[in-house]
Amino acid sequence: MSKLLVELMGGEIGVESTFGVGSTFWFELGLGVAPELPADTTGSRAQGVDLDPAAAGARTLLYVEDNVANLKLVEQLLARRSNLRLLTASDGNLGVEIARREQPDVILMDINLPGINGIQALKLLQDLPLTRHIPVLAISANAMLGDVRKGLDAGFFEYLTKPINVREFMEAIDSALDVAEKRSQQSKGEPAR
Ligand code: MN
Repeated sequence: MSKLLVELMGGEIGVESTFGVGSTFWFELGLGVAPELPADTTGSRAQGVDLDPAAAGARTLLYVEDNVANLKLVEQLLARRSNLRLLTASDGNLGVEIARREQPDVILMDINLPGINGIQALKLLQDLPLTRHIPVLAISANAMLGDVRKGLDAGFFEYLTKPINVREFMEAIDSALDVAEKRSQQSKGEPAR
């Protein structure tokens, strides 16, 4: 019933559950986020395929996430940014591999992942000259103060908690994209010595 209602309103609903620990139920509705968009653009963008990555000004975001509902939600949120290309990876090692290969502008990293976790994946990215400049945002259902502090100490650009607050999410993505652009301008602008 809840799923039906939420989906009728164009939203998404989901649950993350850890045995013996608890469950987080979440839903998202597209309220108050549409002003900059033409109506009816939400929905059906396939990830990374309907945009020419070489298009002028196109930016790339890599989302490392094993939860399909979260992937879909983020895909839907980012579909509103027509100049943003979304790549996805379902575990940490794959995420690091794709980051090396594709050089995304920004990375969004889940913490609880199969195999290596998001913090371990961040460390790998920080150790690679090809990826260490990329801002990495954590996004996790681990929302305790200690989790957030641990994430920021590890070097995440920002630590977002699930359920996703749409406005906070979009602002965080935008500020990470800004930082990525400044870093790339700096590295281009520096004269060779
Ligand atoms: Mn996860």
